[in-house]
Amino acid sequence: MPDQNPVFIPGPTNIPDQLRAAMNIQTRDHRAPDFVETLAPLLRDLKKVFKTSDGTVLTFPASGTGGWEAAITNTLSPGDKVLVARYGMFSHRWIDLCERHGLNVHTVDIEWGRGAPAEHFEQLLTEDEAQEFKAVLVTHNETATGVKSDIAAVRAALNKAQHPAMLYVDCVSSLACMDFRMDEWEVDLAVSGSQKGFMLATGMAIVGVSTKAMQAMDTATCSRCFFDFRDMANANTNGSYPYTPPIQLLSGLKASLDMLLTEGLDAVFARHYRLAEGVRCAVAAWGMDLCAKSPELYSDSVTTILTPEGFNADELVQHAYDAYHVSFGVGLGQMAGKAFRIGHLGSLTDVMTLSGIATAEMAMKDLNYPIQLGAGVAAAQEYYRNTLTLTTQQAA
Ligand SMILES: *Cc1c(COP(=O)(O)O)cnc(C)c1O
Repeated sequence: MPDQNPVFIPGPTNIPDQLRAAMNIQTRDHRAPDFVETLAPLLRDLKKVFKTSDGTVLTFPASGTGGWEAAITNTLSPGDKVLVARYGMFSHRWIDLCERHGLNVHTVDIEWGRGAPAEHFEQLLTEDEAQEFKAVLVTHNETATGVKSDIAAVRAALNKAQHPAMLYVDCVSSLACMDFRMDEWEVDLAVSGSQKGFMLATGMAIVGVSTKAMQAMDTATCSRCFFDFRDMANANTNGSYPYTPPIQLLSGLKASLDMLLTEGLDAVFARHYRLAEGVRCAVAAWGMDLCAKSPELYSDSVTTILTPEGFNADELVQHAYDAYHVSFGVGLGQMAGKAFRIGHLGSLTDVMTLSGIATAEMAMKDLNYPIQLGAGVAAAQEYYRNTLTLTTQQAA
């Protein structure tokens, strides 16, 4: 029975029954002529989720990390200078990946709990008169800290500096959860994966590629084979893959896109905002602080909660699992032991979210945290009762 509990980790996320069913299909021949009809509408719908008409969306059998690698190796050369801010474990891991591919990474270290420093980027890009920076890398939603960065502001910084560097965005834990606009923000590489907002099994990297990024392949010399964009794009044009496609995941992806587009992207974002606000109300009622420093940074996918002085957050997460069979996220990197995370992305309702808040509360009470049993649940209940008709506009 405990396997019926939802997970409250920020990915992989809960898989709705209809998506599990959609992934449970018999082997199909990917060289059969009707496979074309499977792939083309899928890629078309993916573009709606990325909000791109100019770009190309490609899917690779991999996790999100493979998407990062694809973005880097297709478009850059060893020694290329890239600008990136580190403000959590995921931005940190992307920097590490760039370094291992021999890029010259200029890292700006930011306090964890803050987001991409658009103004500082503008200054550095303005000073870069030789235009050596080839790319600016931003993690849209830093899953370690529960911080959402302002991608439009980073694009504005590039434009104000009149800098031609490409803009790479990790949107693994924001796409299909929070608004993302590939064309409007002129994002050149947008990296996502199947197991977060898409509510699917892990195993597919989903990458949005701009025309400019495709053209960068002409001169980029990083080695690539499995993740070669052109091989994939050319094969896709003929309705195939350069190798065996993950048929079951693609079948799930079709169902996921149907679900998301039927609900409507604005409604999906409004639901994530509302669920997140309920969790934030609970945290306030517990008298605890968020890792995110200010409201405009609050993530609607994950909330990172600082535990009070003298309480080890790892123990809390362990106890919630041992006692109640419910998973929360541990603190990552420098937040280890100091924070825990409630993931509230993907397939979740207010009722499910209340169960997570209630469980966190029981686990904290068991460990003598200075909280009132029921305080967080009541605060979230009050918020959910009062926002049943929350409109898309209010959530924006
Ligand atoms: C989950 C996640 C990734 C990718 O992780 P994988 O385990 O490789 O799928 C990358 N960036 C962010 C922000 C994430 O949340």
